[in-house]
Amino acid sequence: MRIDLHTHSDRSDGTSSPREVVLAAREAGLDVVALTDHDTAEGWAEATLAAEAVGLVLVPGMEISCQLGGHGVHLLAYLPDPSYQPLADALAAILLGRDERMPRICANLRALGIDIEEADVVRHAVGAAAIGRPHVADTLVSMGVVGDRTEAFDRYLKPGRPAYVRRYAPALEEMITLVREAGGVPVIAHPWGRSDNAALRLEGLAALKETGLVGVEVDHQDHAPAQRAELRAIAAELDLVVTGSSDFHGTGKNDHELGCNTTAPDQLERLLELAEEAGRAAGRRTPAVVRP
Ligand code: AMP
Ligand code: MN
Ligand code: MN
Ligand code: MN
Repeated sequence: MRIDLHTHSDRSDGTSSPREVVLAAREAGLDVVALTDHDTAEGWAEATLAAEAVGLVLVPGMEISCQLGGHGVHLLAYLPDPSYQPLADALAAILLGRDERMPRICANLRALGIDIEEADVVRHAVGAAAIGRPHVADTLVSMGVVGDRTEAFDRYLKPGRPAYVRRYAPALEEMITLVREAGGVPVIAHPWGRSDNAALRLEGLAALKETGLVGVEVDHQDHAPAQRAELRAIAAELDLVVTGSSDFHGTGKNDHELGCNTTAPDQLERLLELAEEAGRAAGRRTPAVVRP
């Protein structure tokens, strides 16, 4: 059984529709896929119809932008009730922060002599609930300023580069609590990826588990083999669920093909058991895993 628990559609910064993600997952020989767009559940309905049609198990999820000690941290949330008002409010605040940042990024780029307007970026984010820097990158590619998204980040968009602008993100601990209250299960995405965060080592993860964290994404392209081994050992020590996934973004991210990393069936089973418990404890009707 092949399980990929982290993918993006064009409801955020992926390049395929939710339906196309599901069809591509089938094509890639996956049995289970989670759709985890940034800060939104917008793609769930379309992905559900597609999963039922092609006979794939779909786990509805999202990847929520958070911060811990001033560093960005991405939190995967599986099966939360997106209509739980405090969660809906928190996601709306994050999306607002995304919107508000866009004119400022464009102004920074114009100061560098690049003739880009917010409307140009919005055109590259049609259908997306969560607009982000990858859409700026796509705009720069279409203008011939850079060759691909990676070059756009390296030259302009990542921290320390001239067009970078911070945006609002809620505290990780608060979001872990909110996800649990919404009946979902929180898993830290690529904890040792791009922004290596000392707060996400053994002690920090132990504290976050107390708050309600259930797992860590170990097998991710941003983790080197030695990091994976070390993180896996910490997860075992803390009895955290271990996941693995592609972080698929369609053509928006190289070397993140569907199924390039996978989650072990026993880990998914445990994750779903914990989700059931979380839903019961929250007393909420949480979304169901789509089982054709
Ligand atoms: P944002 O959501 O606007 O903060 O942009 C972050 C997104 O951009 C991530 O979810 C990745 O998909 C992508 N990303 C981040 N860093 C890079 C990079 N160095 N090169 C290419 N894509 C990146
Ligand atoms: Mn992304
Ligand atoms: Mn991420
Ligand atoms: Mn992701």
